[in-house]
Amino acid sequence: MNVLAEVEDTRKLEAFREEANAWIKANFPESLKSKLEEYYQNMPRYPDGADWALWKERVRDKGWGTPGWPKAYGGGGLSTVEARIVQQAFVACGAFNPMTGMGTSLLGPTLLEHGNEEQKKLHLTRVSRGEVVWCQGYSEPGAGSDLAGLQTKAEDKGDHYLVNGQKIWTSGSRFANWCFCLVRTDPKVKQEGISFLLIDMKTPGVEVRPIKTISGESPFSEVFFTDVKVPKENLVGQLNKGWTIAKRLLQFERNATDTRRRQLAGDTRPMDEIAKEYLGVDEKGRIADPDLRQRIVRHMMEFRALKLMQQRMLDETKAGQGPSEFTSVAKNARARIQQEREELLIEIFGQQGLGWGTSNGDKYKQIELDTTRAFFSNKAMTIFSGTTEVQNNIIAKRMLGLLDHQ
Ligand SMILES: Cc1cc2nc3c(=O)[nH]c(=O)nc-3n(C[C@H](O)[C@H](O)[C@H](O)COP(=O)(O)OP(=O)(O)OC[C@H]3O[C@@H](n4cnc5c(N)ncnc54)[C@H](O)[C@@H]3O)c2cc1C
Repeated sequence: MNVLAEVEDTRKLEAFREEANAWIKANFPESLKSKLEEYYQNMPRYPDGADWALWKERVRDKGWGTPGWPKAYGGGGLSTVEARIVQQAFVACGAFNPMTGMGTSLLGPTLLEHGNEEQKKLHLTRVSRGEVVWCQGYSEPGAGSDLAGLQTKAEDKGDHYLVNGQKIWTSGSRFANWCFCLVRTDPKVKQEGISFLLIDMKTPGVEVRPIKTISGESPFSEVFFTDVKVPKENLVGQLNKGWTIAKRLLQFERNATDTRRRQLAGDTRPMDEIAKEYLGVDEKGRIADPDLRQRIVRHMMEFRALKLMQQRMLDETKAGQGPSEFTSVAKNARARIQQEREELLIEIFGQQGLGWGTSNGDKYKQIELDTTRAFFSNKAMTIFSGTTEVQNNIIAKRMLGLLDHQ
C-alpha cells in the first residue's frame, strides 16, 4: 500500500472509531453502567431487566455483537480491524458487548472455518442474536492437559450418536443452552478417534452439578452424560477428525483470554495514578514508596509491551495468518501480568485490599472489592485455556523447534 492510501485508510478508521463511540454512547442505557462488574464476573449473574433487553436488541440489530461475522449469519460484516474498533469502543465508553461468551469467541470462529452451511446458518445466527449461551465440554477428570486422553464416548446408533461420560470445569454450563463437546468415537486411536459434537443441554440424560471455588463464585460445573441421544447433523467436520477442530478452537480461546475480561472491569485508571491516591507522593510528585514505585513502573512497562503483543496478534489476523501458536506466548504473558496487577494493587490498598463484602458495615470502595475477588479468581488464568506449563511445551516444540521431552 502506498503512503497516501495508508493515510486515507487511517483517516477512515479514525472516522469509524468516532462513529462507533458515538453510537455506543447514544444507545447504551445509563442504568447498565452499574452492572458492568456483574457482567465481567460473567456467567453466574447475567444482568436482566428492560434496559438489558433493550441494549441487546440494539446491538443485535446493528450486528455489533459479532461485528466481524458475515451479515448472512447476523454479524456486522465488518473487517477485522473495524470489528476490533467496535470491541474497543464498548470498553472506551464504559459499556460492554452483550453477546460476548463462548458462542461468539470460541464456537463462532471455529464453525466459520469448519461448520457446514446448515450449522453456520442455525448456530451462528442464534449466537449473533444473543439467543443462546454455549459452554465448552473439553476437560474430563482424567483429561485436562492431556486432553486427547478423553473418554466420553459417542456411539453410532444409526440415526443418532449415544453419548455417555463426564466433563469437568465446564464454565457457564448452568446457564448454557448448548455445549460444544469433544467425544471419543474410536477407542483404538488417541487423537484420530475424537469427534466434535454439538449437544443441546436440554437433551434428556444431561446433568449439571456446580463446583464452588475460593473466590466465592461457582462459575463452573461437572456435566454428566447418560445415554444422551445426539442427532447426526450435530457432528462438526468429519467423524474421528475432531482433534484438528479442537486445537483450532483452543487457539481462538487463548486469543480471547488475551483480549477480554479484566480490562472491562472496575477502575481502568493507570496504576501509578491509583498508587499516588493511596500512597501519596514525594517532594518530586512521584509515588512515595520507592520500592513499590519501581515495581509499578516495571509492571506498567510490561503491560504496555503486552498491548503491543496484542497488536501483533491483530496484525497476524489481518494478514490472514492468525491466531497461531503465538497465542500461547501471549496467554502466558497475559496471565502473569494480570496476576501481578492484582498483587500490586492489593499491596497498594494495604488493609483496604482485604475487603470481601459490605454487609458487615466494612467501608470498602468498589475497586478494592473488585480487586480482592479478581485476585482470587484470576489465579485460574494460569490454568484455564491450558496451563502455563503446557503453553511452554507448545512454545518449545512448535515455535522454538525443541525436542519433545515426553
Ligand atoms: C476457571 C477455569 C475454567 C475452566 N473452564 C473450562 C471449560 O469451560 N471447559 C473445559 O473443558 N475446561 C475448562 N477448564 C479446565 C482447564 O482447561 C483445565 O483445568 C486445564 O486444561 C488443566 O487440566 P487439569 O486441571 O486436568 O490439570 P492437569 O492436566 O492434571 O495438570 C496438573 C499440573 O500438571 C502440569 N502438567 C500436566 N501435564 C504436563 C506436561 N506435559 N508438562 C508439564 N507440566 C504438565 C500442569 O501444568 C499442572 O500444573 C477450566 C479451568 C479453570 C481453572
